[in-house]
Amino acid sequence: GAAIELVDLTKHYPGNPRPSVDGVTLRVHAGETVVFVGPSGCGKSTTLKMINRLIEPSSGSVRINGEDVTGLDPVKLRREIGYAIQSSGLFPHMTVAQNIALVPRLAGWSGRRVRARVTEMLELVGLDPGEFRDRYPRRLSGGQQQRVGVARALAADPPVLLMDEPFGAVDPITRAHLQDELLRLQRELRKTIVFVTHDIDEAIKLGDRIAVLGERSRIAQFDTPEAILAHP
Ligand code: ADP
Ligand code: ADP
Repeated sequence: GAAIELVDLTKHYPGNPRPSVDGVTLRVHAGETVVFVGPSGCGKSTTLKMINRLIEPSSGSVRINGEDVTGLDPVKLRREIGYAIQSSGLFPHMTVAQNIALVPRLAGWSGRRVRARVTEMLELVGLDPGEFRDRYPRRLSGGQQQRVGVARALAADPPVLLMDEPFGAVDPITRAHLQDELLRLQRELRKTIVFVTHDIDEAIKLGDRIAVLGERSRIAQFDTPEAILAHP
């Protein structure tokens, strides 16, 4: 695992009247899962993108294991942080296997090891490797695309996972299975996970702690599921 520290993180998109993320400060411990919940537009996705350095904060900072992400090499960052998003983000011109193999190849894994890993990851997300390996994303359902997106995020075994509504389009039975897999990764492999959802049941199931973002894009509550249920 790796600890993540957000210090007074703020994003003000040019032209918007209000900041989209306003002074978020919190620490995610190594091996912990923190779930961000809150209404649509409160800044959950923007927060994840700043952790990932896909966008730059207007002010404040993100530290991973004490190191400011602005100082990290981009390739190293991709290996450290697995990122799965709602829309799957698969490259349409690449097959399922090529999408999943992307970061392991970047990390210099051997072809043999990469192929074995692709098979393992497809099985983990409940897709038959023989059937799906060579398909292009457009030939998958929305839920299947998301599952490949999750497989890709996990493929290089990153210590940190950022997941932005990764199971939104997945059918309920598979979703429950993937949630259990995520809990296992957290417990057995001590992954540090930041998970975004608007589903409070999912937040309670997965979160060691839950950060509730309010309408004003600030943290309204940050506590364990038990404490949040007791004092909603
Ligand atoms: P959430 O993930 O909680 O739904 P987002 O982080 O996607 O929220 O968005 C937070 C706010 O920032 C919203 O008001 C949204 O319209 C705005 N926003 C998001 N991305 C951009 C952008 N690229 N340019 C301008 N405004 C944006
Ligand atoms: P999901 O709940 O997984 O999103 P869908 O109802 O979208 O499922 O799809 C049901 C089945 O149809 C899937 O198992 C998938 O194999 C198949 N399917 C969906 N879209 C396509 C497509 N464009 N090409 C081939 N098969 C597809």
